Amino acid sequence: MTETTQTTDLEAVADTIRGHDRFVVATHENPDGDALGSMLATALALRSLGKDAVMYLGGDGPLPGEYGFLDLTGLVRAVPADIDDRILLAVDCANERRIGESNELVEQALTVVDIDHHHDNSCFGDVNLIVADASSTAEIVRDVLRELEVELTPQIAEALYVALVTDTGRFQYSNTTPKALRLAAELVEAGADVHGIFRNVYETVQFAKLKLLARALERAQPFAGGAIVVSYLLRTDFDDVGAEEPYSEGIIDYLRQAEGAELVALIREPPTDNGPTHRISLRSSRDEVDVSAIAAKAGGGGHRQAAGFSSELPVEQIVEFVRHEFAAVMAAQAGADAAPGR
Ligand code: 5GP
Ligand code: MN
Repeated sequence: MTETTQTTDLEAVADTIRGHDRFVVATHENPDGDALGSMLATALALRSLGKDAVMYLGGDGPLPGEYGFLDLTGLVRAVPADIDDRILLAVDCANERRIGESNELVEQALTVVDIDHHHDNSCFGDVNLIVADASSTAEIVRDVLRELEVELTPQIAEALYVALVTDTGRFQYSNTTPKALRLAAELVEAGADVHGIFRNVYETVQFAKLKLLARALERAQPFAGGAIVVSYLLRTDFDDVGAEEPYSEGIIDYLRQAEGAELVALIREPPTDNGPTHRISLRSSRDEVDVSAIAAKAGGGGHRQAAGFSSELPVEQIVEFVRHEFAAVMAAQAGADAAPGR
C-alpha cells in the first residue's frame, strides 16, 4: 500500500481508475444485494472502459441464492497472483476486516480505493470515497461511473438496481431519498427490469429458508414491553431444515414488523466451523436508537439503523447485552428530555 492520502473526492477515485488498467473489485464476506450489485456494476463498468477487472469475494461460503441470476463471471475466491499490479476497489466494506480473514488483498494491492456508505468507515484506502448519506454503495458507484463517462448498459443498470432496491428495503427504509428514487428511474430507463428483478430476488425463496424463518418467528421473544424483539437460530435449525448460512438474510425484517418494536436482534449460530460462534444482526426503528453504536461496543459496526457484530458469548448473555444497551439508550434519552432548557 502506498502512503495514505485520505480524500472524499469523487475525482480522486475517477483519476485513480483512469490511470491504471488492472483491477480487483472486492466486497464484504456474506455479501448482500448492495455488496454484490455494486461489485458487479463496478467490474462491468471497468471492462466497458477496456480494463481488466476481476471480482473477489472472501471466505468459501455459498452465495445467497436470490442473487444467483446475476452473471458473476470472473469472480475469484482466492487473492489473485498478480495482486501487486492491481488496484483494489473495495465496495460496501466499512473496514478492511470486512473483506475477509486475509489482509493480503489490502496489503499487497498497488493502490486501495475504498468506496462505501457506512458512516463508521475506517477510511482504510489510499483513496476513500465515503458518502454516509447515500442510500447504498450503488448510489456512490453510479456517481463514479458518471464521472468516468461510463454508459449504463442494461447489465450495469440491473446490478445497480439490485443493490439499490435491496439496501433501501424496496424503497421503504429511511434512506429512501429523492436521489435514490431518481436513480431508480434512471436505472429503469437504462434497462433494469423492475418486475424481473423482483421475481428473481424476492420470489425465489428456498423452501428451507421459509422453514428457517418459521423457526425464527416461533422463537421470537419480546422484552421491554415489546420495544425489543429478539430471536435466534441455532446450527441445529440450519441442519434440520437443510439451510445454508445465507438463508438467514432478511429474516430479521420479519421481526421488525412487530407492533411497538424499536430494537430487533437476530442471533445466529452460523453452520460453518471457520467463523465466529455467533453473528448478531441489529435493526432499529427509532432515530434515538443507534444500533451501530451498540454493535461497536461489541466490536462490530454498521449503520444507525442496521448493524451487526460477532460474539463468542452464549445466546443468553448476548440477549442480556442487547437489553442492557437498549435500557442505557432509553435512560440517556429520558435524561436528555428532562434536562433544563428543553
Ligand atoms: P447484517 O445484519 O445484514 O449482517 O448487517 C447489517 C449492517 O451491519 C451492514 O451494513 C453490515 O455491513 C454491518 N455489519 C454487520 N456485521 C458487522 C460486523 O461484524 N462489523 C461491522 N463493522 N459491520 C457489520
Ligand atoms: Mn450497503
